[in-house]
Amino acid sequence: MSAAPQTHTDTSHLLERRLRAETEGEVMFDLASRGRYATDASIYQAFPIGVLVPKSERDVATAIDIARDMKLPILARGGGTSQCGQTTSGTALVIDNSKYLRDILELDTSRRRVTVQPGMVLDHLNAALKKHGLWYPVDVSTSAQATLGGMAGNNSCGSRSIAYGNMVHNVHGISAWLSDGSAVDFGPLPSLSGKARDIALFVEALARSHAGEIAANFPKVMRRVAGYNLDIFDCQSERPYTTDNSVNLAHLLVGSEGTLAYTRSLTLNLSDLPRAKVLGVVNFPTFRAAMEAAQHIVKLGPTAVELVDRTMIELALANPAFRPTMQTALIGQPAAILLVEFSGESGAPLLPKLRHLVELMGDLGLPGSVVEMPDEARQKNLWEVRKAGLNIMMSLKGDGKPVSFIEDCAVPLEHLADYTDALTEVFARHGTRGTWYAHASVGTLHVRPILDMRRAGAEGGAAKMRAITEEAAALVRKYKGAYSGEHGDGLCRGEWIEWQFGPKLNDAFRAIKQQLDPLNLFNPGKIIDPPKMDDGALFRFPPPGSPRPYKRLPLRTNLDWSDWNVQNDPVTEATTAPGTGGDVTGGFAMAVEMCNNNGHCRKFDAGTMCPSYRVTRDEQHLTRGRANTLRLALSGQLGANAFTSAAMVESLELCVSCKGCKRDCPTGVDMAKMKLEFQSHYKARHGFTLKDRLIAHLPDYAGLLSRLPWLANLRDRLPGAAWVSEKLLGLSARRSLPHWRSDTFWQGRDPALYADAAATLAASKAAVLFVDTFNGFFEAENGHAAARVLHHAGYAVHVVEKAGGQHCCGRTYLSAGMIDQARDKVSALIDALLPFAEAGIAIVGLEPSCLLTLRDEALSLGLGEKAKTVAAKALLLEEFLSAEAKAGRFAPKLKSVEQPILLHGHCHQKAFGAVSPILDVLKLIPGAKPELIDSSCCGMAGSFGYEAKHYDVSMQMAELSLLPAIRKAPEAILVADGTSCRHQIADGTRGDWSRQAIHVARLLESLLD
Ligand SMILES: Cc1cc2nc3c(=O)[nH]c(=O)nc-3n(C[C@H](O)[C@H](O)[C@H](O)COP(=O)(O)OP(=O)(O)OC[C@H]3O[C@@H](n4cnc5c(N)ncnc54)[C@H](O)[C@@H]3O)c2cc1C
Ligand code: SF4
Ligand code: SF4
Repeated sequence: MSAAPQTHTDTSHLLERRLRAETEGEVMFDLASRGRYATDASIYQAFPIGVLVPKSERDVATAIDIARDMKLPILARGGGTSQCGQTTSGTALVIDNSKYLRDILELDTSRRRVTVQPGMVLDHLNAALKKHGLWYPVDVSTSAQATLGGMAGNNSCGSRSIAYGNMVHNVHGISAWLSDGSAVDFGPLPSLSGKARDIALFVEALARSHAGEIAANFPKVMRRVAGYNLDIFDCQSERPYTTDNSVNLAHLLVGSEGTLAYTRSLTLNLSDLPRAKVLGVVNFPTFRAAMEAAQHIVKLGPTAVELVDRTMIELALANPAFRPTMQTALIGQPAAILLVEFSGESGAPLLPKLRHLVELMGDLGLPGSVVEMPDEARQKNLWEVRKAGLNIMMSLKGDGKPVSFIEDCAVPLEHLADYTDALTEVFARHGTRGTWYAHASVGTLHVRPILDMRRAGAEGGAAKMRAITEEAAALVRKYKGAYSGEHGDGLCRGEWIEWQFGPKLNDAFRAIKQQLDPLNLFNPGKIIDPPKMDDGALFRFPPPGSPRPYKRLPLRTNLDWSDWNVQNDPVTEATTAPGTGGDVTGGFAMAVEMCNNNGHCRKFDAGTMCPSYRVTRDEQHLTRGRANTLRLALSGQLGANAFTSAAMVESLELCVSCKGCKRDCPTGVDMAKMKLEFQSHYKARHGFTLKDRLIAHLPDYAGLLSRLPWLANLRDRLPGAAWVSEKLLGLSARRSLPHWRSDTFWQGRDPALYADAAATLAASKAAVLFVDTFNGFFEAENGHAAARVLHHAGYAVHVVEKAGGQHCCGRTYLSAGMIDQARDKVSALIDALLPFAEAGIAIVGLEPSCLLTLRDEALSLGLGEKAKTVAAKALLLEEFLSAEAKAGRFAPKLKSVEQPILLHGHCHQKAFGAVSPILDVLKLIPGAKPELIDSSCCGMAGSFGYEAKHYDVSMQMAELSLLPAIRKAPEAILVADGTSCRHQIADGTRGDWSRQAIHVARLLESLLD
């Protein structure tokens, strides 16, 4: 297997031509697309020969036929979130099921069964099942992005596996294609016919002839997911594969990692959705005590026993957002806590279980160690903290990263304490440390030591990985555990299959592969004939000495990325000073490399990230796809000048710079900032268009045009003018543009509301109002309203101005890639604001994207301390008012409202946690019950939605949840603080029932008593 990106060959050309001619799917053979499918959440990387995104089952069947004809391998893929390299291959055609093959085919609620296509995501299935009181209970942590096909491929297991088992315990049937093209239904033995029956007879004979080895060498723990399930005829798992001990041939395919057959559909056994849950949080004085207690706690019949160790506790306590929740779970300063959950039909019968837990801990010498949490809201918060703790751990900056390679070894519970003690010593001997978390109930504790995979030699990641693995494997054997207990084999653990099962069973596995896939068409090199786990050539970051060592190409960046340009200490996790990491791109490449491909950006539920993926479902238009494209370009793997190439443009084209990823991505990938960096280099190479200049310089000419509004507004009044603007500038004719007017904020101010600089600096209550270009010229009412609200509450209100016009935050220049001009603008603004900020006076803004530029991009423009001083005082109006209200300084007398109030948060407000302050402020209104719309980006995103080529995508983003929520509430007052959001809401509701959203300042002003 070669990991090098092969160029187009005659074979790949022919394959591409045939796929285009014979299927209706999306066919991608360009280097950037192949690069986006070269990695999963593992340390490995291999460019596939090409990618097919099939539109139908027929496309998959045809692709298998073509591949067989051409003797080319096939690799089925779901969310690509595997941790062991299962979905990387340097020779295969990757087939991505997740975009189109994601339907429920049949739901039988009476038999509690569902049949789904392989690309369906677990959370989407469970959302559909909820109204029936059912769920599919294999609740993997990646439930928002993992597909059922991928989960079956890996024999995945969830946090509640102690109660429900793994995938293998919950699959009833799999309909699949074999590599000869035949479609075979795998299911319960008596139902089999034809080829399925032949396979069953073959496997049964093999199992019978290896009965001794199976009994001796299959680990007896539930969490064993390595190799093939040759034990279906004589189950070795702690938990029988079927409730009646019958044999089901589908279980042979579960955990086979796409090496035996291509799953066409899966029939799954469903469970009743638990209606009630209670949680007991047990506090332990030592980590060992927690490990020793797990075996006793499971006897109480919990549905989950999850570990949070001291490092995780400290990470949570260090975060102001999580501290209060974590504190509610702690008694003193425990070294570890176990979250013990019991669930059932109703809450009352569960309470005695909590009491039993308390009694048990008393018996074990730990009286008073349990925090009881019968209340589900508190439980939910704590589970969120546990998840976030892992995320913080993954966001470690520097080349050393927590690496997953022994993270899911499973040992019998009675040995858990000795095993974890011994492994901790192993880590220490190798100069690293691990943070422990997860599934104590089933003996699978996750742990990732920090290794630098791009370093060669004895101190390098590969050498340490090998040494630690060997010692960990010896411990697993000593304690009769399973080396691969959750995440499968892939490239990382394939070589350990023979070690675990012995040569005879390994040969039996090979015979199964030979029987089902004699052409070795499906995912070759996995399970059978795997490579060495530490073959540097297969790494995403191959170390020096490998055939193509990873190297960053030097780049002079326009933004400051030095915070990422650091190294870390694998034991203390302390990082060096910014700028000392040795990155020849000043930290930009290191920031890009923070993406570890976990695929969380493919989620559809709460949060903003990632709107362009939500409407396209394309890997290219996903934060992960973008980060991978950037990484490959910055390391020279996409050819010369790839960073400023058309492929890069395409990948970033639909990024609306919403900063959703900055907040929601576990490792803090900030694609909006990366796009700014890219844009500046791209424009430097390719030049600015007329549209770029028009948008960027808006703050410069706004004053002039506002004096000639009749002329400026002709575009929307003169028949055909909008059409011309589309042809000339690319601005959509279907959009109205912001309306020019002569009564700007600057013209129509009531001087009585404002104080001069000296009075402001001397006042006991003061605020500097920053009125941006958009509110200043197009929606002056918002500025007036804010000033009135502040003045009414007794604040001295000051507005900074400069000779010849208003100040500007530089945002329009930044988005056009004009970093120098942006720096000049924001620098002048900061100079004007500095005396006030230094005096401790808040800088209050109205437009989220403008005000928050002071807290975000302005800090990356090399403006030094003055930028930090102003950033520290820059607040959105609602943040200021909410804080002042809490301090008892803002208590306006407001009229009450009867109507419901719906709030849409601007993406940048969400990214900076500035949405709840709006709710706080709205709650000051008597009678108000404001409701937040659970929306992602509105789709307008500055100038994005105005562009003709983005119009449809922009409206689709608005239709995801924002517009439907508005339609459902025709009476509601709509509050949206973003200029673009208000425009999008007006455009999206045009017609009979046109709706206008307003800035929170105007609502407050209208209610002033
Ligand atoms: C942060 C993080 C947390 C995780 N937590 C868990 C956890 O709690 N529990 C757990 O078990 N795993 C966990 N995983 C691993 C991974 O998310 C799961 O194994 C998940 O089920 C994989 O789903 P996927 O859709 O991404 O599959 P992929 O990675 O795309 O594929 C997985 C395997 O299935 C095969 N496959 C996919 N579709 C088909 C098909 N149609 N036919 C045949 N074979 C197919 C692939 O070839 C591959 O071998 C975690 C991973 C990460 C990054
Ligand atoms: S961008 Fe963030 S969320 Fe997406 S895969 Fe990378 S690390 Fe995960
Ligand atoms: S900024 Fe928004 S659109 Fe762009 S990658 Fe991040 S989440 Fe997606």
